[in-house]
Amino acid sequence: MQSESHSIASSAQASGKVHTLGGSDLNAEPARPRIGVLAIQGDYAAHAKALAESGAIPVEVRKREELEGLDGLILPGGESTTMLKFLERRHLFDDLKKFCSAHPVFGTCAGAILLAREVRNPEQRSLEVLDAVVERNAFGRQIDSSILFADSKLPGDKLEMVFIRAPRIVEIGPEVEVLARREGLPTLVRQGKLMAATFHPELTTDRRVHKAFVDLVIAHLKREAILGPGNAEF
Ligand code: GLN
Repeated sequence: MQSESHSIASSAQASGKVHTLGGSDLNAEPARPRIGVLAIQGDYAAHAKALAESGAIPVEVRKREELEGLDGLILPGGESTTMLKFLERRHLFDDLKKFCSAHPVFGTCAGAILLAREVRNPEQRSLEVLDAVVERNAFGRQIDSSILFADSKLPGDKLEMVFIRAPRIVEIGPEVEVLARREGLPTLVRQGKLMAATFHPELTTDRRVHKAFVDLVIAHLKREAILGPGNAEF
């Protein structure tokens, strides 16, 4: 059974399609999940590298068709206004919103802004899937970039957080779990199958944050295999 399930997993992986759980053996090692990285601007290549180092297969996404067959997605940092314009021009906004309702998605910095329920400073359109209010460019000019080590709920030592013209999460809903903070405000959060960071985990060599997301994607795939697609809410 074991070898059969592995061969199913790897042939599916080679075909670039479903990869899943490897046959009916639920204890088998899952194949590497395919995780997209929105590749419009910003450091998507660093995210792709971090994903590959965390046990996933990264896939660059620039068109709506490229969302098909993905198990999860990262929305990287950059300039959220520019990213928003791109999404609207390429008619990707609605597809992305739909993707967020069915799959794990991780937004970092500008990506977190895109996921938020409400954006301030100034107000702007967002996907409204993460129950959080986010203020853009919240730390002022002087300290628009900084590095901080802080406790987190991830296993291991303090977490290195690189902030670049970072937003701040000023409100969260009851479903949102805070995994790390800066000056009392959440910097890394999870809500069901969504994650958001106001910093740039891809710019350090610490892979714990990407690994946490890859684990979330794998857990979601497992739940879908048992409960059926669309029924795997955490
Ligand atoms: N300041 C950017 C914005 O508001 C986010 C910065 C980043 O992603 N590093 O969209």
